[in-house]
Amino acid sequence: MVKTRFAPSPTGFLHLGGARTCLFSWLYARKSKGKFILRIEDTDRLRSKKEYLEEILESLSWLGIDWDEIFYQSQRLSIYREYAQKLVEEGKAYYREGAVFFKYQFDEVEIDDLIRGKVTFRELPKQEEVIIKSDGTPTYNFACTVDDALMGITHVIRGEDHLSNTPKQILMYKALGVFPPRFAHIPMILSQSGGKMSKREGATSIREYRAGGYLPQAVVNYLLLLGWSPGGNREIISLEEAIQTFELKGVNKNPSTFSQDKFDWLNSQYIKLKPIDELTTLVKEFLEEKKFLPQKVTLDYLRKVVALFKERISKLGDLMDWGYFCFYDDFSYSPDTQDILKRKLSKEVEVLIERLSQIEDFTKENIEKEFRQTAHFLRLKAKDLVHPTRIALTGRKIGPGLFETMEVLGKEKVIERLKRLCHWWEERN
Ligand code: GLU
Repeated sequence: MVKTRFAPSPTGFLHLGGARTCLFSWLYARKSKGKFILRIEDTDRLRSKKEYLEEILESLSWLGIDWDEIFYQSQRLSIYREYAQKLVEEGKAYYREGAVFFKYQFDEVEIDDLIRGKVTFRELPKQEEVIIKSDGTPTYNFACTVDDALMGITHVIRGEDHLSNTPKQILMYKALGVFPPRFAHIPMILSQSGGKMSKREGATSIREYRAGGYLPQAVVNYLLLLGWSPGGNREIISLEEAIQTFELKGVNKNPSTFSQDKFDWLNSQYIKLKPIDELTTLVKEFLEEKKFLPQKVTLDYLRKVVALFKERISKLGDLMDWGYFCFYDDFSYSPDTQDILKRKLSKEVEVLIERLSQIEDFTKENIEKEFRQTAHFLRLKAKDLVHPTRIALTGRKIGPGLFETMEVLGKEKVIERLKRLCHWWEERN
């Protein structure tokens, strides 16, 4: 039976790279109807933090990744010592200055990597290496090998940054008398400018994406596309479909490049695909968590706002910015609106207010009709009235369709805000 694992060290938040490694490992287990293990590599007491561990577990669950078993290396220290002792007794390791060293019996190591093919190592940087430190904790290569062996891992799927560790681990397997698992090293993710992902470029944690209003399905989908192609130029693929079709040999041998635009585009597709009620519930939870929603907002109103923006936003967080005017009155007119506002139209807008207030059924169709007739009556082009009206209502030059926006805001708010603009003009002249 296939058994894979993800082995994060809780010394930082889960980033895209780690999440992708985990996803590929998980997919391979699920596709093969095998088992997936989560192993927390927390033997570094100083750098491991509970807060990171909690975030890693939470982010994985949020992405829809589950595990059959979870292990903590910090609870298995006696096991590593026991195996180190065994190696000492067999003359394959020895004690020095409190620590246990492992001697590499090295000739040549060949790995038949499931992604990269054959990789041969002819030398190692060191002849020997500490496996148990003087404080009794194991080092990464040893703990990893002992655990992968004891846990019966059949496929070690991990980032290519670990490729240089693999020959060392294979030599440790040999010394322990265990047949090594298969290895699959996943190429790195490069930042948009071609370098390593950095804090400034793309190396954002999963929890930050969540906080920005990315949907877990879109994050998973984007991770899938980073290094694996579902075939046939497809871009939208669900986790369920991926479980059916995922193949390690389909993983790209070359590094993939992170693209924020592509990621945002994908997220916007998922937002569009969500049925309105489901999306409204998500938005409600999201905005409530941010303490952004005013008390008085009804679910019905929120649904209208969501419908207004659904086709236009790339993440839920955009609603707090682009949709601010739907929830709050205290916005100011953005600086780039001044070229439009310099043309004072208070007399005309007063006529518009008068006419709009006559509309009984304040629907976008009725509003549009009245609006256009008013512009015509005032000998203005519709756009000359559209621009200042939009600024009055939203504070910005661009936004969703004006008449839809007016319907969502309702007659009272529309009139109030148009009056505010007239005031603003009066104050300035
Ligand atoms: N704890 C290691 C890491 O986070 C695990 C590497 C491996 O998968 O073997 O990089």
